[in-house]
Amino acid sequence: FEALAQPGIRGLRAYDPGHDLVALRRAAAAPLLELGSNENPYGPSPRARLAAIDALAAAHVYPDPLGGDLKRALARHHGVEAAQVLLGNGSHEVLMQLAQVFAGAGDEVVAAQYGFAVYALAAQAAGATLRLAPALPRDHAMPRGHDLDALRAAITPRTRLVYLANPNNPTGTWYSGAAFEAFLAAVPADVLVVVDEAYAEYVDAPDWASAVPLLARHPNLVVTRTFSKAFALAGLRVGYALAHPGLLAVMERVRESFNVNTPALAAAEAALDDTGHLQASVAANRAQREALAAALRARGVAVAPSQTNFLLAEFGEATARIEAGLRARGVILRPMGGYGLGDCLRITVGTADDNARLLAALDEVMA
Ligand code: PMP
Repeated sequence: FEALAQPGIRGLRAYDPGHDLVALRRAAAAPLLELGSNENPYGPSPRARLAAIDALAAAHVYPDPLGGDLKRALARHHGVEAAQVLLGNGSHEVLMQLAQVFAGAGDEVVAAQYGFAVYALAAQAAGATLRLAPALPRDHAMPRGHDLDALRAAITPRTRLVYLANPNNPTGTWYSGAAFEAFLAAVPADVLVVVDEAYAEYVDAPDWASAVPLLARHPNLVVTRTFSKAFALAGLRVGYALAHPGLLAVMERVRESFNVNTPALAAAEAALDDTGHLQASVAANRAQREALAAALRARGVAVAPSQTNFLLAEFGEATARIEAGLRARGVILRPMGGYGLGDCLRITVGTADDNARLLAALDEVMA
């Protein structure tokens, strides 16, 4: 069927989740410690859980196809109009839809080396040509982070879309608000700039700034967010884009009518409202992230600075052995070979207990 597929789909590799976790869980003697997918170990707001359960009473009717209540809540939260919010089945869907709508054969899409894998998938599936801008060097203060000058230089008259992530997955690195404003000012107005802020709620770096306030002045800007990370609703699949109402009106044409389900809509709205739960999760993550980074560095492992709920750690030539050794001990990390980072593992920051178990296993494997 390869030959029957559209040119952009031919030769494309499906998104690689790392491991077959269901098979690993089934085979494991004890519960796995799953630190491979940047999930939030503190779990969702209890209010979000109750809202999802309550919503199941209406499981026999279709969800609100417009997601109006959640859009209005998000609009209030971000200080934008409800018409500036597009909901997706996870932000993954929104990211794919952007390329589907705005790029095609003969067009170019720019993304960064070591940028999130979905951008390349979206561009290629849309039939567009992907141009990867080189990342910052490994010895930079933001190792392998986005190089905004290189991204700008990769833009050509054929470029329709640029994807950036701030902070970025899998590097954990970020760029400053000031640097982004200068970048955006230099991008032609007919090139859409998509800033993926999936980890925004975790950030406290003083030089970071959300791109959301820039929407008012830049109709070519799109900001994506998700409920999968700090809001801990990855299993319910809710993400969204914030952009100019006219841009989103075009995207609405190809959105599956009921793409966000009823429990997901209800849970997301409740989670957004439970700021106490969010703040507790974010604070716990920050403390554990810094403690884990320090513990890894004390073991001679280079760790990139991170404003997210994960760390990119360099294990050098021993990487594959360490990953397999940890897996044999029930600790799942994310191998990075797919990103061309075969000497690194990406580690989701767990709870204090999770991180103690990880470090104990690591000490055995590294001994
Ligand atoms: N963007 C980034 C940078 C991510 O790391 C992820 C999830 N790993 C996503 C988007 C997609 O998340 P979701 O579809 O769950 O919203």
